[in-house]
Amino acid sequence: MNRIIVKMDRCKRCGICIEICPVKLFDREIDKTPLPARAKECIGCKLCEYRCPDFAIKVEVGKDEKLGSIRFMQGNEAITEGALAAGARFFAGYPITPSSEIAEISSKRLPELGGLYIQMEDEIGSMAAIIGASAAGKKSFTATSGPGFSLMQENLGVAVMAEIPCVIINVQRSGPSTGLATKPAQGDFMQSRWGTHGDHGIIVLSPSSVEDCYYLTVKAFNLAEKYRTPVIFLADEIIGHLQERAIINEIKPEDIVNRKQPSCDPKDYKPFDFSEDGIAPLASYGSDYIVRLSGSTHDEAGYPNATPANADKFIRHYMDKIEKNKKDIVITRKYHMEDAEYAIITFGCTTRSALEAVEILRAEGKKAGVLQLVTLWPFPDEEVTEVCNSVKGAVVPELNLGQLIREVYRVNKNNIPIVGVNRIDSLPIHPNEIAEKIKEVEECQK
Ligand code: SF4
Ligand code: SF4
Repeated sequence: MNRIIVKMDRCKRCGICIEICPVKLFDREIDKTPLPARAKECIGCKLCEYRCPDFAIKVEVGKDEKLGSIRFMQGNEAITEGALAAGARFFAGYPITPSSEIAEISSKRLPELGGLYIQMEDEIGSMAAIIGASAAGKKSFTATSGPGFSLMQENLGVAVMAEIPCVIINVQRSGPSTGLATKPAQGDFMQSRWGTHGDHGIIVLSPSSVEDCYYLTVKAFNLAEKYRTPVIFLADEIIGHLQERAIINEIKPEDIVNRKQPSCDPKDYKPFDFSEDGIAPLASYGSDYIVRLSGSTHDEAGYPNATPANADKFIRHYMDKIEKNKKDIVITRKYHMEDAEYAIITFGCTTRSALEAVEILRAEGKKAGVLQLVTLWPFPDEEVTEVCNSVKGAVVPELNLGQLIREVYRVNKNNIPIVGVNRIDSLPIHPNEIAEKIKEVEECQK
């Protein structure tokens, strides 16, 4: 059972918690103090805790041993809790909707866990701060949205070059620029891959549920630590602001990856020597090891080295350590694909419309299935090609004018008909729009 603790000495009797509680479990006493009269009905959403202006209310969510902790949670909250569960203890950011709850919740939760929250002057500084914190040994993250993500791109390149593990959460909104601020979009699919300069590999994960927001954020940190690389968590407004039931299990210590530490004599340490198993150990600033990090092309010891052979070796390394480990990094999910004649290939919030579209189509006797890309980059070439080879046609719905579909065309070796369903007007794609497009593809083939 959940426990609701109201600190009477802090409570100003504003009534916000009473109004906001979705199950209306509070009663007011004569002096207007909120009383959790039907605490048993609490669904653990924590809205009262997050909205209380005086930090006067705290909700302790109880656990069911079999089911884990059942929560009614928002996507952005789950992302934050996932980051904390993964061991993140540093956040630097410049709040921007629709990602702001991540900054807000981090500012409360991190100090509780001995971590640090800094609100920076802008996104350029935020990205620089998480690089510095990670170099000092803290798992670190930031959260932003479209235009803020653009401002982070230069320093994202620094993180790639210096091989700094960190997680950048982009809760996408409509653009370009301020655009339809806070409205949903999936227009940063390509920016997440190609936004920063130079050649490099990058890992990008995309959630489609609140549970995904929690578990995939843990995964994002694990991949960042394992491959010594920035990882982008590409959510969107719909998923970030979605509130739904989620089973949130504790992450066991053995399921958390921490960066490899050097064991050699400090005088022999080279922070970029990846000769042993492809990823160099990363010592922390302030430890016994000297860690030379810079944005310049460097040698194994971290000294600038502009020789062609050295540049070739390291730039290929940034690409290869991601692309050659696709089997470990790529996650896709198939729904109803066993006998599917038509595929819906999608990611993020649009997956939810796609699943509904499959139900509509199957009720009409049409065999459709969904391939959801959870890992967007490195692109799941093999998985998409395999699906394209197994169906008569495919539809690619996305909240942009056609970014994912370019990659699907690229790996469509059998040249099956592939068409897009695209919206850029701030509205989500309706399942009927996808179902109708599948029927069009089917008609064309008759
Ligand atoms: S929101 Fe906070 S300050 Fe306002 S009534 Fe509830 S507990 Fe008291
Ligand atoms: S956690 Fe949610 S359900 Fe429980 S008291 Fe607070 S607002 Fe109400």
